[in-house]
Amino acid sequence: MAVNNVNLDHQDTIQLIYFAAVLISLWVCEAVVSPVILKSKLNHTRVNLSFIITALPIQLFMIGNVLLLCNWTNNHHWGLFNWIPLHNNPWVYYISLFMLMDLCEYTYHVIMHKFDFLWKFHLVHHSDLQVDVSTTTREHPGETFIRTSFLMLWVFLLGPTALVLVLRQTVQTFANITAHTEFRLPHKVNRIVGLVFITPNLHQVHHHYQLPYTDCNYGDVLCIWDRLFGTYAELEPEQTVYGVDTHMEPHVNARFLNILKIPFQKLNRK
Ligand SMILES: [Zn+2]
Repeated sequence: MAVNNVNLDHQDTIQLIYFAAVLISLWVCEAVVSPVILKSKLNHTRVNLSFIITALPIQLFMIGNVLLLCNWTNNHHWGLFNWIPLHNNPWVYYISLFMLMDLCEYTYHVIMHKFDFLWKFHLVHHSDLQVDVSTTTREHPGETFIRTSFLMLWVFLLGPTALVLVLRQTVQTFANITAHTEFRLPHKVNRIVGLVFITPNLHQVHHHYQLPYTDCNYGDVLCIWDRLFGTYAELEPEQTVYGVDTHMEPHVNARFLNILKIPFQKLNRK
C-alpha cells in the first residue's frame, strides 16, 4: 500500500509537541473562564504534570518496542487484520483498524477497572478531586507500563502499520485531552456528538466518585462500545462529584509522592 511509504521520522517529537500544544491551549482557555482560583489551579496542575516526569521515559521506551513489533507484524503479514475482507481498500483499512483499536482500548479500560491489582494503578487517575485538562497526565508510571504493554498485545493481534498508529495517536491525544476539560458541550450538541464520540460531558460521568457511574463510559475516542455493551450512562453536572469513594482525602490526593504509593497500599473497595 502506498501509505507505507509516508515518512514517519521524528514522530515521537512531533507527537510530544502536539500533545503539549493541545494541553496548554485548553489549559489557558480553562484558566480564563474557570471559577477556580488561579493559584489553586496552578498547584493542582503542578501535581498532575509531575507524572510526566515518571511516565515519559517508560512511554518512550515502550513506544519504541511497539514500533519494532509493528515492523515485525507488517514484514510477516501477521495480524487478524489480514483476514478482513477488502482490507486492501484504504477506506476499509483505516476505518476498520481505527474502530478495532478503539474497541481494544475500551477493553483495556474495562480490565483496568475490574481487577483489583490493575485498578489500584488506574485509580490514581480517578483519584483527582478536581478534573481538568491536567488530569490527562495524571497516570501512575505503573499504568503507563501496563497500558503500553497492552498496546503491544493489540498490535500483535491486529497488525496495523506504523502510520495507522500515528494517525490514531493524533486523534486519541485530542479526544483524551478534550474529554478531561472543565468545559461541557451544550446539551443539544452533546446529544448528537455523544451518539458516536466520548464528549467531556460523558467522560465527566466516568470520573464520578461512586459506582455505578465510575464503571460507565469507558470509551476512548468512540462511545459506541459503551452503548453496545450496556456501560453507557448520563449524569447531570450538579450531581457529579469527582474522585473515588475510597480515596477522597485531599491531603493524599494533592501530594505527588502520596499518590505514587496508592497501588502498593491495601484496597478496601466500597
Ligand atoms: Zn477509568
